Amino acid sequence: MLVTFPAYGRSAACTFKCLACQKDKRKRTFRVEMTVNPYNTNPDGTMKQAAQVSQEAQADANRQRDQFLVYPLCKACEDARSWSEMKAIHERRKVPVTNGVRALEEK
Ligand SMILES: [Zn+2]
Repeated sequence: MLVTFPAYGRSAACTFKCLACQKDKRKRTFRVEMTVNPYNTNPDGTMKQAAQVSQEAQADANRQRDQFLVYPLCKACEDARSWSEMKAIHERRKVPVTNGVRALEEK
């Protein structure tokens, strides 16, 4: 039997200036999809409800966007980086960010 679970896809977009090539008005969208399913539970064991799953997907998309904005690079510049350089950039982006816009303006 094939069972499909309702999925909730949420996205967070941003416009930024690339730190490497200085090109302005670059865009990136972060999309997160989560489903309502019996294994997606709260710490107390109850199944997460649709509104909650939707909200968490949005929060995760926002977090990815905010962390990206700590050190924004356009796709071409990211592709030009070596694996170890990208690893260092990912480490830098891991710092907790509460306000992505502020982080962008600091650079
Ligand atoms: Zn660039």
